[in-house]
This record gives sequence, C-alpha cells and structure tokens, in this order.
Amino acid sequence: MEKQEAKRIGHRLVLVVYPFQGHINPMLQLATILHSKGFSITIAHPQFNSPNHENHPEFHFVSIPDGLSKTNFSPSNFMAAISALNSNCEAPFQQYMEEMMKVEDPHDRVAGVVYDGFMHFAQAVANNLKLPGINVRTSAAATLLLFAVFPDAHRERGYISFPESLARAPVPGLQSLDLKGLLGSTEIPTPILELRATMTDATKKASSIIVNTVHFLEQQTLTKEDTSCISWLEKQAPKSVIYISFGSMVSVDDKELVEIAWGLANSEQPFLWVVRPGSVRGSEWIELLPESFKERVEGRGCIVKWAPQKEVLAHGAVGGYWSHCGWNSTLESVCEGVPMLCRPYFGDQGLSAKYVCSVWKVGLELEGVLERGKIERAIRKLMVETEGVEIRQRAKDLKHKAELCLSENGSTYNALNELAQHILSFG
Ligand code: UDP
Repeated sequence: MEKQEAKRIGHRLVLVVYPFQGHINPMLQLATILHSKGFSITIAHPQFNSPNHENHPEFHFVSIPDGLSKTNFSPSNFMAAISALNSNCEAPFQQYMEEMMKVEDPHDRVAGVVYDGFMHFAQAVANNLKLPGINVRTSAAATLLLFAVFPDAHRERGYISFPESLARAPVPGLQSLDLKGLLGSTEIPTPILELRATMTDATKKASSIIVNTVHFLEQQTLTKEDTSCISWLEKQAPKSVIYISFGSMVSVDDKELVEIAWGLANSEQPFLWVVRPGSVRGSEWIELLPESFKERVEGRGCIVKWAPQKEVLAHGAVGGYWSHCGWNSTLESVCEGVPMLCRPYFGDQGLSAKYVCSVWKVGLELEGVLERGKIERAIRKLMVETEGVEIRQRAKDLKHKAELCLSENGSTYNALNELAQHILSFG
C-alpha cells in the first residue's frame, strides 16, 4: 500500500525514549501516530541500545551522550540505568534543545517534549525552556496511582500513605486489588521509593500524560527475529500451541529452565518457547537442557531466540501464552484473544498479572516455586480442560471489545484524534 504523507502542520515534537525494548516500541509507535497527524518528529535517545534509525527515515534522530560506560551499569540493573540516564542526559539534552530552538524554522517550531516517564529529567528541561512536557507511561494506567502509594513515613511528602495493618485491604480506585499483591511486598526498597517519588513529581508537573493502553502497530527487536517459527506454527493444530516468552529483560536460573522444560514436555501440548541468549543465568542459551528432553519433544517443541511475537499471538495455532506480564505483551495477548499463564517477575508485571487473572479473568497465575507438575497442570487447565473454558471464552470476548475500541469512532481511535487536537491547543 502506498504510504500517504500527512499534511505537515508546522509543529515539531521531541520524543525522549528510555532505551529498553518495552519502552522503545510503544514510543516509536506513538511517534508514528503523531507523525501521521502532521507533526514533525525528533527522537532523542541515549547512545545505549539506540533504535535503528533506518527503520524510520521520516524522523530526525538525535543521540544524547549517556555516560553509561563510565558507570557501573548492566542491563539487568535497571535502577542503576534509570538513575545514570537521568543524571547524565539532562545537561546534553538541554544544550541540544537550546541550540535547536535558536535556529528553528518558524514553520517547524517545537510544540512540546514528549518523554518516557522513566526519563523524568526531560520534564525539568521542558520547564526550563517553557515548553509543555508530556509524560508517557508505557505501563498500565493504574501504575500512575500505584507509584504515588507510600508507606507511612512518606506521608509528609503528600503521597497516598498506608499503614502496615492496611496492607491487605483493597485500595480504592484499584479495582479491589490488594496493596501487598500489587506492590509485591509492603517493604519497598528505598531507591525504588525514591524513583517512584521523582517520577510522580515529574508527572505532576507535566502538561499532559499519555498512557499506552493501545495495541501498538510495530515492534523493534533486540535479537534477530526468528521467523521460521511461523512455518512451524502452520503445521500445528488450531489453538494447540502454548507460546512462552518472558520479554526482553527477565532471566531465570538453571533449575527453573529445567522445570519449565519438563512442565512443557509433560503437558503434551505443542510449544513455542523464546529463550533469549543470556537469559538463563550461568549459561549461554539452552545447553543445560538434557538430551532426554530434546528427544521427548522432538517435532512438538520449537525453541527460538526471539520471535515475531505479535504475529505469533495472532496465529490460529496459538491457544495460550505463558508470559512475564510485561505491559506490551499483556496488551498484545489481550488484543489477540489469547488466554494467559502469568508468571510476573518485577516492576509493573505483578499488577498486570493481577489484572489478567483477577479483574479480566483471562488467565491463571503460576505462583510460588516453579515446579514441573504445577506447570503441566496449569498449561492443561488453561488450554484444554473444561476448568479453563470460561477463561478461554472471556479472552475471546476481550479481543472483540479491543477491536471495537480500535475501529473508527471507537474510544482508542477517538482518543488519538483528541490527543493531536490537545497538543495543538497548547498554542
Ligand atoms: N517481543 C518480541 N519477541 C519476543 C519477545 C518479546 O517481539 O521473542 C516483544 C513483545 O511483542 C513486546 C516487547 O518485546 O512488544 C516486550 O515488552 P514487554 O512490555 O512485554 O516486556 P519487557 O521486555 O519490557 O519486560
């Protein structure tokens, strides 16, 4: 299909991305939508994990020196990454913006800074330059509230506080989900509390907030996508395959790897399993899987390093998704009507799992120690046994609802048009 160039409206938006896949993907999608509404787009990104510029010739890309090589940073330590990115990128970003605004074309003026909530320094730069700052949340909307909930000691800072005795009480506005379940624990480490406080402060100063509640249209990948799994899926019976992927950051240990493998084998369901290189602690890839497992599942199992996930979830052979419940993966699964087996690890994943299992009731949670018998039973319940019939039906119903939201005059469709109008109203 020929790509239609939208009429330019003489306004430029600068989007600041947080350099991890679950954040880069929705931000580039948002940029694509805003570009289609006539905005010119600049993508400001740290040097680390830079998005591929060639995929988006319509955007202008700017690489912000991030100084990460000078800090003790590893991708698994995301707290260190957030803090280093915020302290290191602010000055170079401010300098770039000042220089750009000095020479800007009057027909292409900067209308605002749209930033990932984790890159909260961008709000300070927007304030300094008297530009509107627009805060983007790539997690569920409920995390906005969740991030403002603090133990008693933080009451004086103006946040929602909770005494320990109330930790199991439902939180108003969070659809009867209990606080401890949401937070993972009521003992939240101080650096995480501080990050949440800083992010909430930036959110309060933002002119607008954009929350990613839509099924986005494109994806970036860390490892080369293995599309051979699609031809493997073609050979499987409808709704028979369990797809397993824990996103771009979660890792497991050797014992968990082996329990997952035998749980899959014993479930007797065909499976498509994404094991990212380096995601099994202490090994390169799947060398720790025993030969007896490989022989047992030959032809019935497909293991890849990275899958075209949206295509996989949309495939008729896929009948269940065992997920870490990253928000993007959760949306992708819901939009394709695939019921989920939830195994959250950190961050907002616990919240998403509670939504999936307790609020929308389109999945089952795998709790406690990972053990093959438990895994086998959960897969069979989710995908084949009568106990899972209602879950499977509700997942189909949610897909239908999501389609209505995305179609013309649906709530998502309208919200995107309103967003473009709202940005223009900043004058
Ligand atoms: N993804 C993919 N192929 C894979 C695994 C993941 O394309 O093999 C994509 C997935 O579709 C999603 C993103 O990577 O868009 C992961 O984002 P999410 O928020 O679910 O999890 P995170 O990686 O941030 O933990």
